[in-house]
Amino acid sequence: MNTQHQVRRLEREITGLSTSDGAGVKLLRSLGSGPHARLDPFLMLDEFSSVNPGDYIAGFPAHPHRGFDTVTYLLDGNMRHEDHMGNVGHIQSGGVQWMTAGRGVIHSEMPEQVEGRMRGFQLWINLPAREKMKTSMYRDIHPEQIPVLAMQSGGTVKVIAGEIAVEGKTVQGPIHGVSTEPLYLDVTLPPHSQLSFDVPAHHHAFVYTYEGKVQIGERIVNNHSAGVLTDGDKIELRSLDQETRFLVLAGKPIGEPVVQYGPFVMNTRAEVEQAVMDYQNGTLTQPAA
Ligand code: FE
Repeated sequence: MNTQHQVRRLEREITGLSTSDGAGVKLLRSLGSGPHARLDPFLMLDEFSSVNPGDYIAGFPAHPHRGFDTVTYLLDGNMRHEDHMGNVGHIQSGGVQWMTAGRGVIHSEMPEQVEGRMRGFQLWINLPAREKMKTSMYRDIHPEQIPVLAMQSGGTVKVIAGEIAVEGKTVQGPIHGVSTEPLYLDVTLPPHSQLSFDVPAHHHAFVYTYEGKVQIGERIVNNHSAGVLTDGDKIELRSLDQETRFLVLAGKPIGEPVVQYGPFVMNTRAEVEQAVMDYQNGTLTQPAA
């Protein structure tokens, strides 16, 4: 039996860039900040964090999506989600909405608060060609449904999607059965501590720091940056001299061409043009009768 682990190293860093989206929500975009700033199957990661309502209050009024999943994870705040079918959902502090846009969704994502801190993330995960036109669906995950793995160091790992084993404890998150087998963790490490766990060797993985810095081997991932990892069957992450909070994302690469036009992500230009036409014709979310 080969017990030699291959520990993942830091391959590159994608710095979060200030931008705004929706009706002027200020955010930091790391993955998705440019066509090469992706990591198959992950298309985009936005962090929004502000105590100033002017940065978030306008929200994301009605807009379309086709061809991928959007995952909203709220650390602080309250958001209301509403779609073209009249579905309404609420995301609260610590909660997640996992939406498969599939063929098409037209929805709004609006803050349900007029003051206080709004902080969280939106991640876009691509769908393989055979699933891009599937029926849209939602999974609303309440904070108490997300298991928290407590480490000896006092650190914690929230498991939103996938499964990990740490210090002999195995924990499975509420999201499974997604074809790219995503792992989505929210980790808090006290100063000078570490997290180590096994992952499938050829799944793509990155770390996104949102408080403090993370050390990977001899290298450092800066705050508000995505650190893309090399292949390998083991991930080892360390905090420095302060408490550190970060996300870990891993998933099975799809290996298909990606053609994106705003909120439409397909395999070919023709499919993207079809999505734009369907949106204009009012048939994005369902075929014409
Ligand atoms: Fe959206």
